[in-house]
Amino acid sequence: MTSWDPALLAEPPLTEGADRLPPAHKLYALRTLPMGDIKAIGFDMDHTLARYRSPEIDELAFKKAARLLVRERGYSPWLLEVAYNPAFAVRGLVLDGIRGNLLKLNRERQVVRACHGSKAMPRPALDLVYSRRRLATSAKGFRCIDTLFEIPESFLYAQLVEGLDQGILKAENYLQLFQDARWAIDTAHRNGEMKAEILAHRDFFIAQDPQLALALDRLKREGKKLFLLTNSEWSFTHGVLSHLLDGQDEARPHWVDYFDLVVVSSRKPTFFLETSEAKPLEGHPRCFTGGHTAWLEALLGAQGEQVLYVGDHIYGDVLRSKKNASWRTLLLVPELERELRLLEAKADELRALLRLETARRRTLRRASVLLDQWKRNRVRRHLLGPRLSPDATVALDHEAAHLAASAEALQRRAELQNLELDRLMATVEAAFNPMWGPMFRDRDEQTRFADQIQQFACAYTGKVGNLYMVDSHSTLYAPVPALPHERLG
Ligand code: IMP
Ligand code: MG
Repeated sequence: MTSWDPALLAEPPLTEGADRLPPAHKLYALRTLPMGDIKAIGFDMDHTLARYRSPEIDELAFKKAARLLVRERGYSPWLLEVAYNPAFAVRGLVLDGIRGNLLKLNRERQVVRACHGSKAMPRPALDLVYSRRRLATSAKGFRCIDTLFEIPESFLYAQLVEGLDQGILKAENYLQLFQDARWAIDTAHRNGEMKAEILAHRDFFIAQDPQLALALDRLKREGKKLFLLTNSEWSFTHGVLSHLLDGQDEARPHWVDYFDLVVVSSRKPTFFLETSEAKPLEGHPRCFTGGHTAWLEALLGAQGEQVLYVGDHIYGDVLRSKKNASWRTLLLVPELERELRLLEAKADELRALLRLETARRRTLRRASVLLDQWKRNRVRRHLLGPRLSPDATVALDHEAAHLAASAEALQRRAELQNLELDRLMATVEAAFNPMWGPMFRDRDEQTRFADQIQQFACAYTGKVGNLYMVDSHSTLYAPVPALPHERLG
């Protein structure tokens, strides 16, 4: 069965009644999560509590970074004329900074799609460079596009590669462009210009979610301790969260009132790996900068699996908090809403794909049975040859010719089915993204991104407001895993 099966997505994942929720409002459990055992719930801020509008924020980062390259690194002003393309990259891709490429990997870390600069690489070119080897993405020169903040960096790098290939830009090699793109995006985040612009136009850049305050309020009322753990510094955090939460609830007039503890400039993932001193923020009780896991757990009176952390970064928020602190994790996937909408819109095509794939496999199985019969026929002919009567020999040869012709006809049919499958698959996948297809799969394979979610997240959902519909004492049940031999017929 191909894993495009929409029935898999309809798996009831949740608490009683929750399966009545629209898919975009659900939490999808990957590991059973007894919410009653959770004492403290922590939240990341950027792209978690705060949902930034895309492509507005991506375009802002790209423009700021391009200006920095022109102003401070002598890049051609041509870069300032480039129009931002929001569809260019999706999360989960990997930048190959040595070769000027952007890659989509399957769960085995093999490259399944690639582009050089902004042009798609045909399959033979891609196989020539990467063959089917497992790629070590932690090696120097690679960068995983695991947060939404890195989407504009991919586009910027692709433009620099295009510029170099076309002779518009000068650089030693692709790696220099890669390092310059990293520097420019990093500086755009650090020098305060980008943040100042976001704060000056908060309605434009930050999406409001009426369920956010309700969700936090409900969790607090039901006895959970809430904390904020963000890498953003105090002034930006205050600017964003006051916009989202101040004045939403008379009982909690200020955003800080929703939290038992606030940690800014937390330096995740180092927060989960090293011990660093937490400094109180003057004039703001319960608010700190820095700190580390053991300190936070002691203040909260909750540790390990009693803590649930909600964040959007598969590495910095989810992998490290799970591996190093044994916290339970809820991954925020803001793209989920769109992916679900497309899955619904394409449900008929997906069912047709499933039928076609099942038919293709059946055809190939039948062809292989006939080929096997043909081989056994030939073995008999060889072994019994001298002892067979002339009539028996003719009959055997006749049967062999028939078997070979039938197997060949079935193989031709499977090829046609494959072509039809390719055509239909390409139109379905292009609806998700013309270059990359869906984030979570490629044809019938899962992506590196989907694999990481399955490995490290206890559950995932599209927005924090979805927690409003979750009873804090219920259990989120994961689907029961089964190996192929355990499936009932
Ligand atoms: P969090 O997601 O709330 O933990 O915070 C993310 C913070 O990291 C935000 O303040 C971003 O502006 C910042 N950030 C994202 N990408 C970069 C980067 O490349 N360099 C420096 N800061 C970054
Ligand atoms: Mg974040």
